[in-house]
Amino acid sequence: METQQIRKVKLPKRVVIKIGSSSLNHEETGGLNFTKLEKLVRELCDLRNQGVDVCLVSSGAIAVGRSSMGMKERPKTMAKKQACAAVGQARLMMTYQKMFSEYHQTAGQVLMTKKTMLDNVSRKNAQNTFEELFELGVIPIVNENDTVSTYEIQFGDNDTLSAIVASLISADLLILLSDIDGLYTDDPHANPNAKLIKDVDVIDEKLLHMAKESTGSDVGTGGMATKLTAARIATRSGCDMIIANGKDVGILHEIFEGDFTGTLFHQHYDEDFYISDYIEETL
Ligand code: GLU
Repeated sequence: METQQIRKVKLPKRVVIKIGSSSLNHEETGGLNFTKLEKLVRELCDLRNQGVDVCLVSSGAIAVGRSSMGMKERPKTMAKKQACAAVGQARLMMTYQKMFSEYHQTAGQVLMTKKTMLDNVSRKNAQNTFEELFELGVIPIVNENDTVSTYEIQFGDNDTLSAIVASLISADLLILLSDIDGLYTDDPHANPNAKLIKDVDVIDEKLLHMAKESTGSDVGTGGMATKLTAARIATRSGCDMIIANGKDVGILHEIFEGDFTGTLFHQHYDEDFYISDYIEETL
């Protein structure tokens, strides 16, 4: 298994960073991993201090709600998941607000559903709000509005949501912090000869074939297939995308200072790509 490569990425003007429940929450209990969260916040504040517009897409609402109500099992019914999200999202934001303020940064909450993107007025409103937040130096923290979104209006996973946000706000880089180093030629857990793919220029059938549902995580929802959907959306919107391992969020530092392990999908802007049409037709 190949794990090492040396290269760095130019500091972007605007970056979207997505972190999943499997990186943020303890698997057994769903409780937050504060050590990791603290480090993530520090990394994001460092980027902000270098003049980068930073947007965080954070999962964890349902898992945090579950743990704070002492539920042993993961919630199964829609109503229970939504109730967990109502409690957990508020608690998650409370934690972020507190941590960001320790580094003199302000975070704001943006919750979205598919409807936000499909309706021309609300999409434009969301876009304006993001612009204003960046103008004010705020770090938006985005999640799906799990409390109200049911099957018909949900994105379902935050990999896709983060790419949609990157497209909406014209970010130049999207980083998916995952529980795997990147895209492999085969499932690295099953095949020791699987190789990490460092650069992707074209997302073709061969690549899609390689992207098995290989992360095997129990807490989050996104496998490799959702990451490739995200890559398609981001790259066609003119945004590079990186999949890297969120086991140590210090990887963010490594990405911009050199010597990081991960898969970089190169953007190829497509002027005929409209995010709302794509959502309507594909998702
Ligand atoms: N929106 C969900 C949550 O915050 C997670 C979705 C995902 O991890 O992809 O709990």
